[in-house]
Amino acid sequence: MSDCLFCKIAAGEIPSDKVYEDEVCLAFKDIDPQAPLHFLVVPKTHIGSVAEVSADNSAVVAHMLTVIAKVARELGAESYRVVSNVGEQAGQSVPHLHFHVLSGRDMTWPPG
Ligand code: AMP
Ligand code: ZN
Repeated sequence: MSDCLFCKIAAGEIPSDKVYEDEVCLAFKDIDPQAPLHFLVVPKTHIGSVAEVSADNSAVVAHMLTVIAKVARELGAESYRVVSNVGEQAGQSVPHLHFHVLSGRDMTWPPG
């Protein structure tokens, strides 16, 4: 998608604090971290949100989850929270699928 922030970051057109990259996805530090460790994992192809996950793109999403586990392990996170907001009411501000990975502080439940 030409006018999508995370498509541009995934394509390297907008800089990011990258922590992992392969042919399928990119992981980078959130610009407004909500925990001592807060990174995002985004697919290189445009998927709007979890609501657009289907049989056609589920392999991409499964791969992203393996990347979350690998990068979290490599960054020393043993306990962490994985969040994906879907839609405005849930707090999604960038309409390109992303998993937040938050770690390094106590988390509360239920989330706000
Ligand atoms: P959400 O609000 O769930 O859609 O998450 C979007 C996240 O993207 C927020 O946590 C923002 O802080 C983060 N964000 C927005 N722009 C950038 C950027 N240029 N680089 C890194 N993170 C960003
Ligand atoms: Zn996009």
